[in-house]
Amino acid sequence: MGTDRSWDTITAALDRVSGPGRRSGDWVRYLCPVHEGDGRRHHPSLGVVYNPSRQRTIVRCFAGCPDEEILERLGLGVRDLFDVPGARRGAGERSGATELALADRAILAAGLALSVHKPDPGPRIKPPRQAATYLYRHPDGRSAGCVIREVALHRQGYVKSFFQYRRTDSGWEPGGFGHLPFRLPELLEAVRAGHDIYVCEGEADVLTATDAGLTATCNAGGANAWHPDHARWFEGARRVWVVADRDAPGYRHAAKVARSLSDSVGEVRVVQARDGKDLTDHRAAGHAISDLDPVPVLDDHFRR
Ligand SMILES: [Zn+2]
Repeated sequence: MGTDRSWDTITAALDRVSGPGRRSGDWVRYLCPVHEGDGRRHHPSLGVVYNPSRQRTIVRCFAGCPDEEILERLGLGVRDLFDVPGARRGAGERSGATELALADRAILAAGLALSVHKPDPGPRIKPPRQAATYLYRHPDGRSAGCVIREVALHRQGYVKSFFQYRRTDSGWEPGGFGHLPFRLPELLEAVRAGHDIYVCEGEADVLTATDAGLTATCNAGGANAWHPDHARWFEGARRVWVVADRDAPGYRHAAKVARSLSDSVGEVRVVQARDGKDLTDHRAAGHAISDLDPVPVLDDHFRR
């Protein structure tokens, strides 16, 4: 392996997640794994370029997705942008850092780290196995797509991966299925009936909430994959509780969800587990759903 280690790491991950790139001048263009990862046809808006003088690779979504979200989709971290481990970004390299975004203020207020480094899981010990299948439906109940959750045992623990399939006239094929919230028919019924609705980060938490007798939903693809089109299904809902996972991606996701719902929903609250990271941890610790704690900064911001 040459000295351009960061280039090899990042393009190998992009080849795997987004398919092969296309050279365009100095840049190689890929589908952005954050906003173009829905399996549809797009003009690729993610560019990568190697900077030999700084021994680093630059990753840029020209539609504006944050670098950290892109790296997270690739299973990488900021340090993978640099050939030499431990290299630091230059001062001022982060643009737009003068005013912290709402979510970042909440993250700092909660004493959480602004970025999450996933520890290296080590080599895989057993092949992945299918752990769950979550069916997504059209408003009339027809199947639209599904999310398959796989887990694989690595030396340092289990690694989860998610795959999406869409339902077509001829069967199932790999790929995204539009911006349909999980359990959409039940969501629409709750909107009509004026019931409270819970928005979680993933399907497992949604099922924890529905087991407790509540109406809950999420978007496919987890944090980073919420799209404004998901919000239109909530139009006219009386009250929505956004349940934030207790980490930086969870807070950013919750802020994005709350903002996109705030125009069309009567009341938006942003809450989190009293113990643990998510709703499932909260329930496992013996707490009632009504004991979810408000997220400082975010909850106040969206309450009227
Ligand atoms: Zn993007």
